[in-house]
Amino acid sequence: MKNIHPVFDQIVGRAEKEKILGQRGVVLWFTGLSGAGKTTVAAQVERSLASRGILTQLLDGDNIRTGINSNLGFIEDDRRENIRRLAEVSRLFVQCGVVTLACAISPTLEMRAMARQIISPEDFIEIFIDSPLDVCESRDVKGLYRKARAGEMKHFTGIDAPFEAPLEPDIHLRTHEFSVGDCVRTVLAALERWGGRKAFETVNKHENRRP
Ligand code: ADP
Repeated sequence: MKNIHPVFDQIVGRAEKEKILGQRGVVLWFTGLSGAGKTTVAAQVERSLASRGILTQLLDGDNIRTGINSNLGFIEDDRRENIRRLAEVSRLFVQCGVVTLACAISPTLEMRAMARQIISPEDFIEIFIDSPLDVCESRDVKGLYRKARAGEMKHFTGIDAPFEAPLEPDIHLRTHEFSVGDCVRTVLAALERWGGRKAFETVNKHENRRP
């Protein structure tokens, strides 16, 4: 890019930061319909990692939309930009060695592929929080499905905007069949089994360090 001069070589790098923290950064990317359970599961996974002494950051799509993405709506281009910024912010955290939990509907394969590329594939774990539309709609945690059905909200995923299910998610959680606790345990167990992957090292390195 013209007239931009990055200074990556002058700033303290990821490896040094990870050494300070005694952990490795990774992004857990939670995708799924509104009301599927992304925030619920991610919040409990985060709590559990925190109790093991692992530094985390949960980036929730709704929270992000009140701040850095407050100028974005729900048309396709804005959604893509929402995901691009969420991925860039996640990348900053991962470069700091933080275990980052990013929750966003991220409705299309293309958007999630973009996020994976921005963050880097080896730092990206895709978690499909899967619940059928009718279950999400009956939960209607935020009252948004009712509004969408009443025509008060446009471009609502699952109603008048598409959701493309991940083809090969790293972790697939069916939240209508399993309890929150089961889903959380599945994520934690998957992290621990992640042989060779950074998330695995994160958990173990830290456990080894504890007295
Ligand atoms: P999202 O972040 O995907 O929009 P939320 O986490 O805000 O969804 O809401 C999910 C709702 O579904 C919550 O009310 C939660 O208690 C409920 N729920 C029921 N079973 C599960 C489960 N196994 N995992 C996650 N949420 C569940």
